[in-house]
Amino acid sequence: MGIDAPRQTGQLIKIETDRRLGHEWDEWDGTPLDNGGDFRAPVGLYFGFTAVGFVLAAGVCALAVYLLAPRLEALIGGLPTGLYYSIGALLALGLMWLGLIALAVHSGRAVLPERLAERGLLLRTLHLAWRTGQLFGVKRDWTGHASVAVYDRLALARRRQVTPDELLILIPRCLSREALDGVLDIAKRHGVSAFVATRGQLARRVIKERRPRAVVAVACERDMVSGLHDVAGRVPVLGLTMTLPNGPCKDASIDLGRMDEFVRKYLGR
Ligand code: SF4
Repeated sequence: MGIDAPRQTGQLIKIETDRRLGHEWDEWDGTPLDNGGDFRAPVGLYFGFTAVGFVLAAGVCALAVYLLAPRLEALIGGLPTGLYYSIGALLALGLMWLGLIALAVHSGRAVLPERLAERGLLLRTLHLAWRTGQLFGVKRDWTGHASVAVYDRLALARRRQVTPDELLILIPRCLSREALDGVLDIAKRHGVSAFVATRGQLARRVIKERRPRAVVAVACERDMVSGLHDVAGRVPVLGLTMTLPNGPCKDASIDLGRMDEFVRKYLGR
């Protein structure tokens, strides 16, 4: 997050002066967001685009080997064939892994260890999913929502319990008054600290300094995907995305029932 100045587009769309856009929204032109800023999407979006991303990546590698084949063959006889087999094997492994993640999501069971799932390999595929989606004209918010939903389902399947002191609630500066009051009420009821992180960097610093054993984080899909990518490998996180009825970085609303559920999950209540 970080652009402080209000901006206008060539269409002279007015952006309110008290709205500071996070850098994830740099390209926003002031027009209303799709579906009133509610990006709820089925988890299939993550699986579809990740699978296609794997196939495209393998295709690009195979094409590179094909173009360089004469030189590679001159270097080591049979090298291109070996590389084709390796690319095919990696693609098969990737698709098998994705199948296991889908099984875990649909069964609600922890099928794979954390490092092979939501706190490791999965985090490395989050950007691939939305980038592939964009190739097909799907905005990153929709794919991001599906990816965070997959991540949360995997994280919820783990047994993990912490004390209120060990849990941290991280919220962004863009929540509506009602949402903020709701979050503070939940935090108070469960005796958990809540921090308003005005920038993504600050959120990461708070985690580094407070060293919580678990975090419930709130953010828009864009910020959540990059936050999970940076932080979830180090500390367990449950991520709650928001609805942005008035555009990004202002008046965001959240599902308070879901937030309470996440806090209870970590506290074992
Ligand atoms: S979390 Fe809120 S303030 Fe941060 S980038 Fe997203 S919409 Fe903007």
